[in-house]
Amino acid sequence: MGKRSLLTVILTAFGAVLAQMGAAQIVATPPRWYKGNLHTHTINSDGDSPPYDVLAWYKRNGYHFLVITDHNTFTDPALFDTNPNDNFLLVGGEEVTNARTVHVNAVGISRVIPRQNGSTVTELLQASIDAVRAQGGLPLINHPNFGWAFTATEMLPLKRTALLEIASGHPLVNHSGDGRIPSTEQMWDQLLSAGVRIYGVAVDDAHNVREEFSRTRANPGLGWVVVRATGLTRENILAALGGGDFYASTGVTLKEIRPTSTSLEVELPPASPTTSSPPHFRVVFIGKDGRELSVSNDNPAIYSFVGNEGYVRARIEDSNGLRAWTQPVFLGGVR
Ligand SMILES: [Zn+2]
Ligand SMILES: [Zn+2]
Repeated sequence: MGKRSLLTVILTAFGAVLAQMGAAQIVATPPRWYKGNLHTHTINSDGDSPPYDVLAWYKRNGYHFLVITDHNTFTDPALFDTNPNDNFLLVGGEEVTNARTVHVNAVGISRVIPRQNGSTVTELLQASIDAVRAQGGLPLINHPNFGWAFTATEMLPLKRTALLEIASGHPLVNHSGDGRIPSTEQMWDQLLSAGVRIYGVAVDDAHNVREEFSRTRANPGLGWVVVRATGLTRENILAALGGGDFYASTGVTLKEIRPTSTSLEVELPPASPTTSSPPHFRVVFIGKDGRELSVSNDNPAIYSFVGNEGYVRARIEDSNGLRAWTQPVFLGGVR
């Protein structure tokens, strides 16, 4: 039984107990989708805008939450996220950074994490992951191909992993690899196939929020996550991210993701009747070792498990090159 289906059983049992207690007046908040960016810089490191301006950009552009992740610098959300009623949440963060270009984002921390030490890339990654976990945060392994710093080989021994960057708006992170060095999405499959539980995210890694926007600058609005939660709180966002109840996107919006014990179903919103050239979509279902299991143009797209896939995840591709990625449903054998 997957983590989510177990959660469903617990919630259902909890609901039954409440009903028996005559607590009919307690109405559960239905979960909804919240859009956020987990990787952003400000003038607190090498970004070009003050935190409040960066926050304001994301708020204006339809986001619900943001993590400011300056290099080895913690930006206190309480100083900038001062309106509790604006349906926008700033989550504490930092990009734990060292000279070997091993960068790990700390999502949901509350005080600074110093530069970590280690004699190998694996040691540096593990030290950073442990420091983030020690604060109840989620470690996000950033851009392995930035500076061609490391591959799945260095990540395979890691413990207590949570998130891996598989897409980014940053122009220098080489996420597609070169055919010999794998793409970060291929690295993700290598980790999942070896039994490492880690979820894939898309981020902005934005540095340039002012002046002109161009493909050579690290602008905002290019990669994000959409999490399913019952309310916009740090705890809910971290629980959804840590439990894989979210999708990553560089531009494709999903209506619903339905993982069950027998299938994975992906539903896209209906095309807008006012769009003159609506994009077409295909949904690629992927299993262990990155194996393509099936491709569907249906909406919803449904993949029924055979049982030997190891895990099943979906990549949704639109006809303009934009993508979304669901998180894997584990079919056993994954720690
Ligand atoms: Zn970085
Ligand atoms: Zn960064």
